[in-house]
Amino acid sequence: MTTTTKEGSAVVQARRVLVLNSGSSSVKYQLLDMNDRSRLAIGLVERIGEETSRLLHTPLAGGDAETRERTGRIADHAAALKAAAEELAADGLGLDSPELAAIGHRVVHGGLRFTEPTVITDEVLTEIERLVPVAPLHNPANITGIRTAQALRPDLPQVAVFDTAFHTTMPEYAARYAIDVETADAHRIRRYGFHGTSHAYVSRKAAELLGRAPEEVNVIVLHLGNGASASAVAAGRCVETSMGLTPLEGLVMGTRSGDIDPAVTFHLKRVAGMSTDEIDVLLNKKSGLVGLCGDNDMREIRRRIDEGDERAALAFDIYVHRLKKYIGAYSAVLGRVDAVVFTAGVGENSAPVREAAIAGLEELGLVVDAGLNAVRSGEPRLISPNYARVAVAVVPTDEELEIADQTFALVGQAEPAGQQVPVGQVDN
Ligand code: AMP
Repeated sequence: MTTTTKEGSAVVQARRVLVLNSGSSSVKYQLLDMNDRSRLAIGLVERIGEETSRLLHTPLAGGDAETRERTGRIADHAAALKAAAEELAADGLGLDSPELAAIGHRVVHGGLRFTEPTVITDEVLTEIERLVPVAPLHNPANITGIRTAQALRPDLPQVAVFDTAFHTTMPEYAARYAIDVETADAHRIRRYGFHGTSHAYVSRKAAELLGRAPEEVNVIVLHLGNGASASAVAAGRCVETSMGLTPLEGLVMGTRSGDIDPAVTFHLKRVAGMSTDEIDVLLNKKSGLVGLCGDNDMREIRRRIDEGDERAALAFDIYVHRLKKYIGAYSAVLGRVDAVVFTAGVGENSAPVREAAIAGLEELGLVVDAGLNAVRSGEPRLISPNYARVAVAVVPTDEELEIADQTFALVGQAEPAGQQVPVGQVDN
């Protein structure tokens, strides 16, 4: 975007933000125009380092959103970002553009230090590296993404938006495990929580849907994707969440067990003779829905249930039972609940999960209207009847938009359109 000065010369306004979500073998990216918070392009590089690497790139600025695909080995994150930059350049959206204001990075673990989005300096990067022992699967990939982006545009502000930040408002009695305090502190063992960007965004959107300010409402957010977590948000601040030291605790997930007696791990070691790494893989990759029935996609599980598959039915019941327990527990934590909100892949799309999770909770003021629940829509919506004491809602999450908003609020030339929450109160 350009404006013209009094002297008549054009001034380019930097109002684009590139959002990067770097995983161990993938990079997801979105380029947003913060004038109207629209997407200019989205893309994904997956299977980095393998022969079967793939880049999918979709320009969204013009009329047709046609996805382009590149296949063949992409050696590392640097090559992935370079390939993405080439695709963007082919659409006239090159990363060398003066219109690019900043790059916003999703960083999974910010520990206790990072409670807000933060401009990345050498010192900040060192601190994110110091957190690798508590996030060995995630932070190294995020760091690689940051370094790669810095090499590409060393002149540009880079901002870290942390998955844990929204949960740093949890009271100490919710964040501490009841284990020896010295041991816990020596190894930074406590409940950090994850998916915070999503919980922050969705709880704020839910307040908007109710026509109230975030400070006026208490909300239970159920982020049900392949990873899943619940949070209790009181007056805009997170007071409890289901994930802990790592994203393993809490709800039943696609491949993770969620809550489990920790003695199961000793048992597997002593009696089943499994190594620590094997137990790690079992609980993180081979448990949850996939461990229970062999599938982690809720669509497939529902299809199997419709065909009379008992294992799929039991997996569904265990999944829903855990959800109910958390809804009940968080109702007690909050005292008064204004809304229970479903989000992410399962939460946004699976009417049977929403129906089953709320069924029988009339005493808590929770009812789902079957007709409203059946509606498919990409918009935030209520699925409870008018008379219900507590609203039940579906609010599509948008972590990339939240990261872009927070990044731009920190480094942009002006407030982004639609920005509702001051940086510092926020998120994930
Ligand atoms: P996410 O991690 O938020 O992308 O969610 C991914 C999960 O959402 C998948 O593993 C599916 O279980 C679930 N999902 C996606 N689309 C649907 C759908 N139409 N119906 C039911 N579940 C869905």
